[in-house]
Amino acid sequence: MKCIICNGENICKADIKEEMKIGKDIVYLPINIPVCSTCGERYYDRRTIQYLENEGQRLKEGKVALNEVGKVLEYSQ
Ligand SMILES: [Zn+2]
Repeated sequence: MKCIICNGENICKADIKEEMKIGKDIVYLPINIPVCSTCGERYYDRRTIQYLENEGQRLKEGKVALNEVGKVLEYSQ
């Protein structure tokens, strides 16, 4: 499998944290997917996309226990 972005051949499964936006919050969801080690492009298969959609729904419904690990801050105008 070649990377569709950079044409590199170093695509390996990696543990990454997918960023999910839930309302104004960001939730990091750990997943294991193929990632291009040259350019960082992530490859999602159908199962992963389905999983992310399911978890996104569960997160919106408040069904997942979460830890606060930091804050998201924005410049004040
Ligand atoms: Zn690449």
